[in-house]
Amino acid sequence: MSTYKLGLDYALEQDKNDDLVAYRDQFHIPRDANGKPLIYMTGNSLGLQPKHTKSYVNQELEDWANLGVEGHFEAKNPWLPYHEFLTNTMAKVVGAKPIEVVVMNTLTTNLHFLMVSFYKPTKQRYKILIESDAFPSDKYAVESQLRHHGFDHKDGLVLWKPRAGEDLLNYKDLEGILEEQGDEIALIMVGGVNYYTGQYLNLHKITQLGHKHGCVVGFDCAHGAGNVALNLHDSGADFAAWCTYKYLNSGPGSLAGIFVHEKHAYKKDLNRFTGWWSHNKKTRFNMRHEFDQLPGAEGWQLSNPPILSMAAIKASLDIFNDVGMEKLIKKSKRLTGYFEFLLKKLGENTIRIITPSDPNERGCQLSIQVLNANKALHDKLSKAGVISDWREPDVIRCAPVPLYNSYKDVYMLVEKLKSILSE
Ligand SMILES: *Cc1c(COP(=O)(O)O)cnc(C)c1O
Repeated sequence: MSTYKLGLDYALEQDKNDDLVAYRDQFHIPRDANGKPLIYMTGNSLGLQPKHTKSYVNQELEDWANLGVEGHFEAKNPWLPYHEFLTNTMAKVVGAKPIEVVVMNTLTTNLHFLMVSFYKPTKQRYKILIESDAFPSDKYAVESQLRHHGFDHKDGLVLWKPRAGEDLLNYKDLEGILEEQGDEIALIMVGGVNYYTGQYLNLHKITQLGHKHGCVVGFDCAHGAGNVALNLHDSGADFAAWCTYKYLNSGPGSLAGIFVHEKHAYKKDLNRFTGWWSHNKKTRFNMRHEFDQLPGAEGWQLSNPPILSMAAIKASLDIFNDVGMEKLIKKSKRLTGYFEFLLKKLGENTIRIITPSDPNERGCQLSIQVLNANKALHDKLSKAGVISDWREPDVIRCAPVPLYNSYKDVYMLVEKLKSILSE
């Protein structure tokens, strides 16, 4: 169904007809020493800075300078309810209801706090299932949860692995694991989009399978948020968490989001760690009240949040609100399809794309195995002005981000790759 064509003219024409072309100008594109824009393909690792982020952050610095503590109420965007300004758009981005979403803490921290509530092991049912190629932080986090509850982290960890000689996860294998030891698994926690292969898993299917066997199901959506239509509410998942510095362009180490399904919103008896920000907003400052749990995802907050980071998230989410996920995903599929089309022309003896070929099973990232390559290839690409991500032994991950990457970026990237490979 390829409607793509070769040649630079075609790429330039696509950029001209691109609905989202104006958004590229809203971002700072990193440049080389001569001031020439680099081909930035690592928005899956650290998203680029929106040009208006500085003014959002400056607003808070100014209000702090001028108002001091009164800024909690008097700032242009009062700090007390600041997280609420992010909730509606964030909920739209991940396909959730506002009561199910809040921005707080950082990602791994949130995974732990959510496991406090959703990993409740018993002697019979204590194992945690993750994907074999989980992001290291997630693996360390679940291992430490197992140890925290007195279990052996090797015995307690169940790995969903790709079949021998394959890269992608197969749902039949998950079914097999669950048939065999589903009654021992307390929690399934996998990456919604795998950081390495770019495989976008079917959250609804995994949740249904897990629930059928009595497991709690949560997702790490670090590589999904702002990249694919997660539809978290409809997936039925119990919980999810994601960072905002990858596709959500909110700056290095910025805060993270959580999702807790509406069905858990009013369960005051659900175990959790709490702080004053989990307490009823109306009586929070009376200070001497008995603890009164806030309903919904907000009830998982502990601290008053860092407003400067929140401001950067607001700057980014205002762009997402303006574009809408639908248009974003439409361009994403087309741009990544074009990337795939050009890569395939390099030939099967040169490259192999690990990422699923079905556009519904991936986001914008393609993970490319370059046959007989080593890290020298990555260094040459960097010298040629391409910022990409190298994974040993021979995989480059590139994510043409629909908000700021162009068809020309993708065309030039493949041209550079081709010329380096033919040296
Ligand atoms: C990026 C990423 C992380 C990083 O965690 P932090 O707590 O933000 O440092 C964790 N898990 C996954 C799956 C990621 O993609």
